[in-house]
Amino acid sequence: MRLLALMYHRARAGRLGNSPRMLDAHFAHIAAQHACILPGEVLDSRRLNVCLTFDDGYFDFYAVVFPLLKKHGLRAVLAVPPVVLQEQAEASAEVRLQAEPDVNFTHPNYVGFCTWTELREMARSGHVTIAAHGFTHCRLDGESVDLHTEIVVPQTVLASRLGQSVDSFVFPYGRFSPPARQRAQECYRHVFRIGGADNPGWDTPLLYRVNADGMEAPDALFTSARRTRYRARHLWNRLRGR
Ligand SMILES: [Zn+2]
Repeated sequence: MRLLALMYHRARAGRLGNSPRMLDAHFAHIAAQHACILPGEVLDSRRLNVCLTFDDGYFDFYAVVFPLLKKHGLRAVLAVPPVVLQEQAEASAEVRLQAEPDVNFTHPNYVGFCTWTELREMARSGHVTIAAHGFTHCRLDGESVDLHTEIVVPQTVLASRLGQSVDSFVFPYGRFSPPARQRAQECYRHVFRIGGADNPGWDTPLLYRVNADGMEAPDALFTSARRTRYRARHLWNRLRGR
């Protein structure tokens, strides 16, 4: 019984995403073979437990991933930095899908991200749970980072505007300093990093995630060789104190 948290970004083909067709087949595989759970839920002792986590709140999550989650009866975590959120979008869905958000988020191209209205709809659907992902999406391993703004504030802002508690935090770029880690763990029940490893369960101080962008096949992440590697990487990370 292991817990595999998968990290996704865009719903389009490329290094930072997967095509809608690939996600559709991948979700069908998960729905048929594995237990898809959200943070804190009881693990299924007979199957691999998979937690889907999508980062950044790109509009293609609302346009592509959300309908696929409903189609396959799955649920996912969407990790959002509130700086990118606007109440409504003026542009058409077509324009928003084509938008190229600034990868450094210094000048977020709002048109390419979900809106508060869309986030509320998804959060209420039961298929999506919202996590904090910093406030401005800056790296949290620098010495001059305002940890209150980046870790405490997004929880308050997201919870009050969505009318739901926010129990999970996902480190932007997977980076953090020891004080950032401590602050996140004080505020949130579940804290995610990257690390390429699986987890024994939710009671892990920092939850590892495995990159799921750029999949070669719908079930590529679940072969026995991969699963052995995730487990070995978990032990190796812990040995190195990471
Ligand atoms: Zn991110």
